[in-house]
Amino acid sequence: MRILVVEDERKVANFIKHGLEEDRYVVEVAGDGVAAIEMAMNNHFDAILLDVMLPGKDGFTVLKELRDSGVSTPILMLTARGTTEDRVTGLDLGADDYLPKPFSFEELAARLRSILRRSSPEKSTKLRCGDLVLDTVSHLAYRNGREIELTTKEYSLLEYLMRNKNRILSRSTITQHVWKHNFDPESNIIDVYIKRLRQKIEKDDGKPFLQSIRGVGYRMRETNPDD
Ligand code: CA
Repeated sequence: MRILVVEDERKVANFIKHGLEEDRYVVEVAGDGVAAIEMAMNNHFDAILLDVMLPGKDGFTVLKELRDSGVSTPILMLTARGTTEDRVTGLDLGADDYLPKPFSFEELAARLRSILRRSSPEKSTKLRCGDLVLDTVSHLAYRNGREIELTTKEYSLLEYLMRNKNRILSRSTITQHVWKHNFDPESNIIDVYIKRLRQKIEKDDGKPFLQSIRGVGYRMRETNPDD
């Protein structure tokens, strides 16, 4: 999942970025409101962490402009201001949640998982596809109760595929949500990762979860017992 962190204080931005990267997210940072709007409008982020006090355009202005432009990405406001009025302003402008500063990283991570769940049809912290289970808190995967070891990138790829199960996902969509940079369209890096993931998650069962859609991309398919 790809997250935009909007925070002008570099120390705070780095603290959040490193923590989220350890939690398997792809993270980009915008240091002011104008850059944040430009990045949010031109990329597909899964969530935005938005500080209120920013140079140029403040967080409320950024939030309003994004919502007015139809950007529906879940937004968590980070605010040093503890007044009820500010919290209400943010929520009424279309923020999904707020977190007053100073905060612990654990709470930030839990609130982020919470706003990601709200925008997903899957409300549990565990994503399921047949007998495959992915725990988004512990970052562990299980099939038939057997733990599957995944690398950081394999986890990110599987989480994105499972959050969007039964949907056909193009290679470029997968790239935008799981990798930081867009690859050369000729690159086969996604196919390489999909192959490795298949070897791990489909090892004990003949029924494939991951369908290749020729010329387009992939689909994580819930196996139908009648198939
Ligand atoms: Ca700030």
